[in-house]
Amino acid sequence: MTDDEKMRGAVRSIIAFIGDDASREGVVETPDRVVRSWRELFSGYAEDPRRHLAKQFASTSTSMVQVNGIEFVSTCEHHMLPFIGTVDIAYIPQGRVVGLSKFARVVDGYARRLQIQERLTDEIAEAIASSVATSGVAVRVRARHSCMSLRGARNAGASMTTTALRGLFFDDERTRGEWIAGLPA
Ligand code: ZN
Repeated sequence: MTDDEKMRGAVRSIIAFIGDDASREGVVETPDRVVRSWRELFSGYAEDPRRHLAKQFASTSTSMVQVNGIEFVSTCEHHMLPFIGTVDIAYIPQGRVVGLSKFARVVDGYARRLQIQERLTDEIAEAIASSVATSGVAVRVRARHSCMSLRGARNAGASMTTTALRGLFFDDERTRGEWIAGLPA
C-alpha cells in the first residue's frame, strides 16, 4: 500500500468515526481530496524555507524595509485546525537585500506545517536573521485560530498577536517605534 492509499483509508475511518458513511456518494471521493489538500497544507516539511532567501542583491541602503500583510494559512498542532492571518516583516539591510516576494515564500514554508503561532513567528525571524546580513529583524503575526472560534470557548472575534524582535528592533526604542508606526492597524 502506498502512503496515499494508507491515508485515504485513515480518512475513511475518520468519516466513519464522526458518524457518516464513507461509501455515500457525496463523500466517496473525499478521502482522495483530503489527502491532496494535506499534501499542499503540509508541503512545508519538504523544504528548508531559508533557500528562498539565498538570492540577494547588493544595496547601499541601510533604511528599514517593511513588508506588511503577507497572508498565510497554517494548522495548529494541538487540534489540527487551521489558523489564518497575516505576517508583517521588517529588516534593516547591511549591504544586501532580498526580493520582496521571497518573504511570502518563507512564510508559506513555515506555515505549511503543524505549527503554533509563537514558533511560526520565531522561525520566520530566525530564517531572515540567519540568511540576510541585517542590523535588525522584526516579525509580527496576527491570526484567528479556528480551534478557538469553532469549539471550546467559541470566541469568534479574538485574534492573537505575536512578535519576534532581533537586533536594533529589540535594543533600540527609536527603531522599534519607527517600525510600529509603519504597521497596519
Ligand atoms: Zn488549536
